[in-house]
Amino acid sequence: MSALVEAVVDLDALGHNIDALRARVAPAELMVVVKADAYGHGRLPVALQAARRGIRWIGALDLDTALTLRAGGVGPDTGVLAWLYPPGEDFERAITARVDLGVSSVSEMDAIARAAAEARDRPGFVAPRLHLKLDTGLHRNGATADDWPALVAAAVAAERRGLVRTHAVWTHIAEASEEEDTLSLERFLAGVAAARALGATVAVRHLAASSAGFRREDVRLDLVRMGGHCWGIPSFDGVTPAQMGLVPVMTLRAQVLGVRRDRDRALAFVSAGYGDGVPRSVAGKASVALGGTQHPIVAVERDHLVVDVTGREPEVGEAAVLFGTGAEGEQTVREWGDLSGTLGDEITTRIASRVPRRYIGGS
Ligand SMILES: *Cc1c(COP(=O)(O)O)cnc(C)c1O
Repeated sequence: MSALVEAVVDLDALGHNIDALRARVAPAELMVVVKADAYGHGRLPVALQAARRGIRWIGALDLDTALTLRAGGVGPDTGVLAWLYPPGEDFERAITARVDLGVSSVSEMDAIARAAAEARDRPGFVAPRLHLKLDTGLHRNGATADDWPALVAAAVAAERRGLVRTHAVWTHIAEASEEEDTLSLERFLAGVAAARALGATVAVRHLAASSAGFRREDVRLDLVRMGGHCWGIPSFDGVTPAQMGLVPVMTLRAQVLGVRRDRDRALAFVSAGYGDGVPRSVAGKASVALGGTQHPIVAVERDHLVVDVTGREPEVGEAAVLFGTGAEGEQTVREWGDLSGTLGDEITTRIASRVPRRYIGGS
């Protein structure tokens, strides 16, 4: 390894997780959610690998991400869903690129219909597919129950003009308590029935993400949207990826820069710091693997870690594994998260973009 620090992203591990999760949620389908640059794993390589493994739905969050995926080779057989827009969003480019559009309000619906009316006379125009979003209690986005009939009616009216296609109804749930999720499911199914009664096509119903989608059959419906579990990061306390049949996808590697004696201790300097996105909160909590054994992290500086190597002093240039699958004795990012009071997802997402991602596998 020449880079001081690198994030190795194992596309075969990703493929394995995708296969395992698909089998778990079947007959529902799996949407791979690649927002936040696939939580630091790299949105395009992840989406292309998902498509190679037969995934037919990618969740992008924003239009820039959706268009990056289309431009990068995610073809029209794979639905790419965007749902969060800045005011004044340009929907014409989304329609041209055949992005599926989440719609949370009548004003968004109007903007999409206007863009479709502009695009309609161009050769190759395909009316965009809509995923109408209902708020079932999370209050993040989506139409409230009061606003729902007006949103559905606006979509159906635009469909009658040939501007859009109603296709899916969806919501996002808290996944914090079983009771709340059950209540959200009931509200959601009522919203689906109301949408159908108003003339909307509801070919796909989706509500659950990693946590509820893994545990609860009743919330899977037609499609489950997963981020965290695809990267092999369990969303459950005290559960290892292996117990869920998953493999962590990212391994963060660095190297030993030097060793210094400090009274009766030996301290190694390892070439990754908070400037690379290593959280300072892992100091005194998590460890790094050197030569197959774990050594406690004493401090996280901007450009390096200080690791206690008393009893077994490593060579300069020796590989250090910060987190990964455990194959070289290292902790997983889920363990790092548990030990330092954050989420494994948050740690991978915050690994700095300047840290090179090295992709391995990927058939
Ligand atoms: C982020 C997100 C997901 C995926 O969440 P995980 O818990 O990482 O699986 C699913 N749906 C929506 C709407 C999201 O924003």
